[in-house]
Amino acid sequence: MRMVDLSHEIRTGMPQRFAGPIPTIFDIEFRGSQHYQAVDDACILQHHLGTHIDSPRHYNPAQGMAVHQLPLEKLITHAVVLDLTQKAPLTEISVRDLEGALAKTNERINPGDGVLIHVGMDAKYDTWQAGNWRNAEYTKAPYLGDAAVQWLLAKQIAILGLDALAPDVGEDYRPVHQVLLRDHGIPIIENLCNLDKLTKSKILLVALPPKIVGAGGFPVRAVAIEE
Ligand SMILES: [Zn+2]
Repeated sequence: MRMVDLSHEIRTGMPQRFAGPIPTIFDIEFRGSQHYQAVDDACILQHHLGTHIDSPRHYNPAQGMAVHQLPLEKLITHAVVLDLTQKAPLTEISVRDLEGALAKTNERINPGDGVLIHVGMDAKYDTWQAGNWRNAEYTKAPYLGDAAVQWLLAKQIAILGLDALAPDVGEDYRPVHQVLLRDHGIPIIENLCNLDKLTKSKILLVALPPKIVGAGGFPVRAVAIEE
């Protein structure tokens, strides 16, 4: 059994997509006696930071499922990794692209499996500095449109992940967030990394957020297990 960490580090001052408190990890106090020394520490993080999951509540604030309500079956599941690293920046990933990538894996996407879209943007992750997400090379990833969303829905996937800032581009119409996440309750993991380190196209994905009641997203430690 081989494990690959698919998660970026969470650090003080790291770049973030949304306005909010600057990520801060800090010590509150040191305690001790002659027998031990202890530190009590804390962090301030917004929910959509680094490698994180979007829960349906992110796009359906009133009624969408929050992270504490996500079924474990969506968070621990087999997932097929589709290689789309040949796609140019800011181009739409077509159904033909998805079919071609799936054919190369010799795997099937069964109902309830996850799908990880490997676009290779984690190699550009360092171009994303605090405050510049709109201009960073990292954010110019190929994206999924309506046709790709319908293809994923027909496969009855449990969860979608990708190694880029987001599966949608633009601010006006965002089909992955609006249709897959909001309308069909399929969570999305953004900012994965190390998909190029995988040696298999079908892995066991583990991506668990803590049970933060009411959160529309939260960082996850996403791990691939190659069985
Ligand atoms: Zn998010």
